[in-house]
Amino acid sequence: EGPVYGLLSRPCQVMVLLNPRSGSGRALHLFKSQVQPMLTEANIGFTIFVTEKHNHAWELVREADMSKWDALVVMAGDGLLYEVINGLMERPDWDSAIRKPLCVLPGGSGNALAASLNHYDSKNHCFKETLLMNCTFFLCKGLHAPMDLVSLHTASGKRLFSFLSFGWGFISDVDIASERYRKLGAARFTVGTFQLLTTLQVYKGRLSYLPAEEQTSAPDQSSCPAKQHVQQDSFSNKKPVHLSSQAMLEDSLLVPFEEQVPKHWTVAPEEEFVSLIGIHQSHLGADFLLAPMAKLYDDAIHLFYVTAGVSRLSMVKFFMAMEKGTHLALNHPHLHYKPVKAFRLEPLVPKGFMTVDGEVLACEPVQGQIHKRLARIISG
Ligand code: ADP
Ligand code: MG
Repeated sequence: EGPVYGLLSRPCQVMVLLNPRSGSGRALHLFKSQVQPMLTEANIGFTIFVTEKHNHAWELVREADMSKWDALVVMAGDGLLYEVINGLMERPDWDSAIRKPLCVLPGGSGNALAASLNHYDSKNHCFKETLLMNCTFFLCKGLHAPMDLVSLHTASGKRLFSFLSFGWGFISDVDIASERYRKLGAARFTVGTFQLLTTLQVYKGRLSYLPAEEQTSAPDQSSCPAKQHVQQDSFSNKKPVHLSSQAMLEDSLLVPFEEQVPKHWTVAPEEEFVSLIGIHQSHLGADFLLAPMAKLYDDAIHLFYVTAGVSRLSMVKFFMAMEKGTHLALNHPHLHYKPVKAFRLEPLVPKGFMTVDGEVLACEPVQGQIHKRLARIISG
């Protein structure tokens, strides 16, 4: 592990990936009018790559010559940053590529990371152009910090990396259903929420997780020689991995789907959910403070779930409280919170979609684990 904080050198060159369709379609205009003059002032050179289609940023970043860029800047919503991170992790040189400082300039309708970075910097409740200004200032200052990522596996064999969230149930369905109100910007989530509240659905699944506090105390090395042996083994195996960086990042906390989760994991007694979210940033949207306790690199997935039987009125209360992040203080019996290192979710009845960082996945068993400080992000 290198130093915690880093600083962009000047002058520098950044690659800007811009989605002209994100949010209400004003990203290019906002970049030219608001961002560009500040970057010029700060001696930051840039080249804009306007994305032409879904997954374009993913491909661009996978093939790009990284030596040309000091940072990768995403002017879009969270969806485009998700593509960038996955493009970086698919490169043969992923372990150095993923350490390239990333920067998010909110131009989309889902700007959860931008809102989270503002929250970590104690600037709360910033929206739209104020949020964009603050994030552009972060880039001009050039300070970057580590950021945890989550590695996810689906039963059908997909492997994905997430900087924000995994979801199933109500909130994921809102995210997807509200796509058609894209023109409304962030308000699309509010409209979608009220629409779906009229018919609260139940999602049946088995949830297992490795509690965050468990890992530091539990796998007791001295009383478990077998474990110690395995750990030493994997440590000595790790050295050659650095020489040929082709090897994939290993998820040491997970076991194959065919196997039961390890004994020291917890299996949730509840199997009927209304909504389930694993989030590893504070915000799920610009005015949606789901995990006020979350930090950029706290080595935890903050797991929230709402169990079946919850009333519509309680759901409305949760959503209202989440604007300020006070929902846990409601002490509501249907709202559960666990900080975890890893989780597995097995739908018992496939239903709806799942989402990773706001992007759609088919409903199937998934599991994932946190990777401490894997990426770097320009922040306050
Ligand atoms: P928003 O926050 O508004 O959802 P995102 O930046 O997250 O904005 O982008 C939403 C989706 O748009 C992403 O899945 C991305 O792949 C896709 N996309 C990128 N460029 C284009 C384009 N030129 N036309 C259509 N979709 C695009
Ligand atoms: Mg999006």
